[in-house]
Amino acid sequence: MIDLHVHTWRCRHAVGTVAEYVATAAERGIDTIALTDHLPLSPELVARDPEVARYAMPADELPEYVDEVIAARESARAMGGPEVLLGIEADVYPGNEEFVRALLSEHPFDVVLGSVHFVDGWAFDDPDRREGYASWDVRALWERYFGDLVSAARSGLADVIGHADLVKKFGYVPEGDLMPLFREVADAFAQAGVAVEVNTAGLRKPCAELYPSAPFLVALNRAGVPVTIGSDAHAPVEVGSAYEEARDALRDAGYRSLVVFRSRQAEEVPL
Ligand code: ZN
Ligand code: FE
Ligand code: FE
Ligand code: ZN
Repeated sequence: MIDLHVHTWRCRHAVGTVAEYVATAAERGIDTIALTDHLPLSPELVARDPEVARYAMPADELPEYVDEVIAARESARAMGGPEVLLGIEADVYPGNEEFVRALLSEHPFDVVLGSVHFVDGWAFDDPDRREGYASWDVRALWERYFGDLVSAARSGLADVIGHADLVKKFGYVPEGDLMPLFREVADAFAQAGVAVEVNTAGLRKPCAELYPSAPFLVALNRAGVPVTIGSDAHAPVEVGSAYEEARDALRDAGYRSLVVFRSRQAEEVPL
């Protein structure tokens, strides 16, 4: 069992220390856990809207976070606990690439999740910002979101694309056949050489399904895009949550293996 997506208290909207996450992973028989807290946001974004500061760790805490995860890895290893990977979830959106690249270059990450949580600075996944949907046509929003996500994949910054259809979170889904869009995105991911995650947090949200959806997973499998699994836990109790659902959805989509990343290199593990 693996969990490659969890958050700690450091991002200010999650709870739990690195040690608490690792202890819960050990209790639940998880072999590999990646801590992937939110990378600090760019000063421009925070200047534009100071409230966004609550979405990520403060800029000056990244070195402490890294040290804490590395220390937890060493102590888990000494105690025969789970493998602990140093990960991060980075906001990759147009114009932010060089800021992210500079931060990533400073630390020995095992795995980088590249996520899109903002469209033109709007945090479309924040329940307190749902009024923003009123000013978008749903199909136009989806096309914009997936366009930005493909750019994130092509940036080369991320190993794994986070919650690839997050834009469905509150149930705003365009009418009609979405398979052509999913196929196009899946082909672009394959060409960019990124993996995706099956993120079980979607089950806990209004959309009430995994990210990505079953048809999107089929398209990803057909395109040859590798996959990993993450809970996107924002509390230790959520570690490994809905792992069986994720595994079953992957098997149904035709997947037979997962990938984990060590020093940013993909290694296959059985599903
Ligand atoms: Zn978060
Ligand atoms: Fe995210
Ligand atoms: Fe996350
Ligand atoms: Zn996330």
